[in-house]
Amino acid sequence: MLADYAVRVEQSRGRRHPERPHAYRNDFQRDRDRVIHSRAFRRLEAKTQVFTRRYSDHFRNRLTHTIEVAQIARTLAGQLGLNVDLVEALALVHDVGHPPFGHAGEKALNAAVREYGFCFDHNLHALRIVEDFELRYAAFRGLNLTFEVREGIIKHSRDYSSNDYPELVEYMLDSQPPLEAQLIDLADELAYTTADLDDGYEARLLTLEQIRSGVPGFDDLYREAEKSYPAAIEKLLFNEALKRVLDSWAGDLIGNTQTQISVARISSLSGVRACDHRLVSLGASVEDDRRKAKEFLYQNLYYSAALASEKSDAEQIIGDLFSLYVDDPTNLPTSYQQKAKQEPIARVVCDYIAGMTDNYIFEQYEKHGGKKPEMVLRPSP
Ligand code: MG
Repeated sequence: MLADYAVRVEQSRGRRHPERPHAYRNDFQRDRDRVIHSRAFRRLEAKTQVFTRRYSDHFRNRLTHTIEVAQIARTLAGQLGLNVDLVEALALVHDVGHPPFGHAGEKALNAAVREYGFCFDHNLHALRIVEDFELRYAAFRGLNLTFEVREGIIKHSRDYSSNDYPELVEYMLDSQPPLEAQLIDLADELAYTTADLDDGYEARLLTLEQIRSGVPGFDDLYREAEKSYPAAIEKLLFNEALKRVLDSWAGDLIGNTQTQISVARISSLSGVRACDHRLVSLGASVEDDRRKAKEFLYQNLYYSAALASEKSDAEQIIGDLFSLYVDDPTNLPTSYQQKAKQEPIARVVCDYIAGMTDNYIFEQYEKHGGKKPEMVLRPSP
């Protein structure tokens, strides 16, 4: 049952290139399937989320992170009466614009293109992928996604002003995105915060004691789990506590969003769009907990000495390859050399590097004389 403020597929603003309806899949289901069948989606498997493959194969990569976001987002959307098909398409596409090497890669790419007067933005890059780079259909370039999915790609995690981004004007930058898109940003936050605690603990970069004292609410839930399962080993108690953290945050998000919707007297999609703030949110105290947990991860994991060498390797590889291609575009594949005739070379090189997986960029780096960095030391088991 869709709530009256949900997006209805039959009211979609449609595709750039009109297509005949499918016999048994609606337009948002088709968009979800197009994303899953895209090359950019498959590449997520070989892109770093936080831990590179050099660490372990069982930590999250961008693909498994994406699947977790989709799972959480679908649950939240179902409870809020939102359009689950649209939410699923948005969750699955939300990270396709990320370059190799996670946030270190994004930072390095941004630093490289800044010298040429523009910046790298993964949402804008994702839009270019689905609008232009994916070549699957004879009738058009890109995936020809519905307006609502393209709008969600741009607007789910931040606002863009029409002054700075006149090319995005069709996405109604002055109005809020539908709740289906607003939901993705928080589903992403809940997914990676809990997952990174899990992987960080498993990698022994975070200790149980650190997490119990640094992540608000965790200690109480850990004690609760100890009471329920006095004989359980530490890792399973950790899992129980972490699962309860995620569950309590998700429950709070559902309840608080329902409250926000009723306080603002929202009863239609146009009401959502016209509202002066985003309605999908955690309550103040859980939001505070989430922020503290995120700060904890920044201090103890993302900026930790253990991951520092990986990050500096990433920055060096991206920086070196970027200069190599810009200085001598004949090193680029022919299709990109063709593109460089119509677009600034820095833009073309940026697109090429952003599309690479971690594996592929290592290969390219070695091919052009770079030395692949040594394996990082694994933490002792
Ligand atoms: Mg994400």
